[in-house]
Amino acid sequence: MFRLSQFMREVLHPTPLKPARKPSGPVVIWNLIRRCNLTCKHCYTTSADIDFPGELTTPEIFTVLEDLQQFKVPVIILSGGEPLLHPDIFKISRQAKDLGFYVALSSNGTLVTEANIADIVAMNYQYVGISLDGIGATHDKFRQKLGSFDASMRGIHLCSEHGIKAGVRFTLTQDNVQDFPAMLQLIKEHEIDKFYLSHLNYGGRGNKNRKDDAVFSMTREVMQQLFSKALQWEQAGIAREIVTGNNDADAVFFLHWVREHFPERAEHIQAKLEQWGGNSSGVNVANIDNLGNVHPDTFWWHYHLGNVRQRAFSEIWSDISEPVMAGLKQSPRPLKGRCASCHYQKICNGNTRVRAQQVYQDVWAEDPGCYLFPEEIN
Ligand code: SF4
Repeated sequence: MFRLSQFMREVLHPTPLKPARKPSGPVVIWNLIRRCNLTCKHCYTTSADIDFPGELTTPEIFTVLEDLQQFKVPVIILSGGEPLLHPDIFKISRQAKDLGFYVALSSNGTLVTEANIADIVAMNYQYVGISLDGIGATHDKFRQKLGSFDASMRGIHLCSEHGIKAGVRFTLTQDNVQDFPAMLQLIKEHEIDKFYLSHLNYGGRGNKNRKDDAVFSMTREVMQQLFSKALQWEQAGIAREIVTGNNDADAVFFLHWVREHFPERAEHIQAKLEQWGGNSSGVNVANIDNLGNVHPDTFWWHYHLGNVRQRAFSEIWSDISEPVMAGLKQSPRPLKGRCASCHYQKICNGNTRVRAQQVYQDVWAEDPGCYLFPEEIN
């Protein structure tokens, strides 16, 4: 995850480069349940409003939580499906909080209502992230449910009114890009604490001309808009968090933007970005699915590292006899193609490996989702 507003703050108010602090363990995104009341077009878990067999039971979840605590996992993001449909969501959340984790909830927001807001408040979640795919009808079309935009917005407002930090996650596609400026406007008007721009895990074709690719030019345009907005908000002293995900080339694109607009800060920002280090799937980001399978991140559901029913998460995560884990944890990673020769590998770390695997059937091939032109990576 690229923390844009944090780096924008560094542009405006630079702070000294301190020794890097290594996280004690990975952030775990845990898809507790696959059931969902919506059927979104881009859903990576292909959820539906049915019960899925074989999901981890609550006692099994508690056992895993204890292992995660001993393994010094700092953050757990409870996700789904729709996590609020889990019959024991509050029991599990309470247990996670009692074990000392930073706990966030990732929801579609439609089930955050007057009926359960007191329970949500009582959980004292550090953050509630709610997905929006556009404004009004655009969102409803993506979510394939009329009225879901209004329901999600009500959920966001309820959280804010009750002092819960809430944010919007927007997954960019060719079908909702037209709503992006209005989305930024909505964030401002509703004083939403956090905005997360998620890139669709775009595979595209191999060997394309990046300058002719509609998805890439759209992404570049959106990123430019996001940089301008982040700058505006930071200059106005608005403490709003803006982050992007699923395309670590964003950080390199940002460095080029800094060179153009704040050349005197470019060296400082480059050093800070290198210290951050780019993609950390399989290192500082982990995923557990509803059946207990462990993955390097949420987009690797077709690839299992092990199952927490058979082996403790801590063992699975530390096992570098597994070839994908060995490569992800290697520094530098064994990258190929343009990623191998990229001048900014230290910033991006080869971006999203699952895209390379899906398009080239080679985990270490170049990331086909990198939207930077050759002159921007040399
Ligand atoms: S070429 Fe690869 S390493 Fe370089 S910015 Fe693009 S995705 Fe990242």
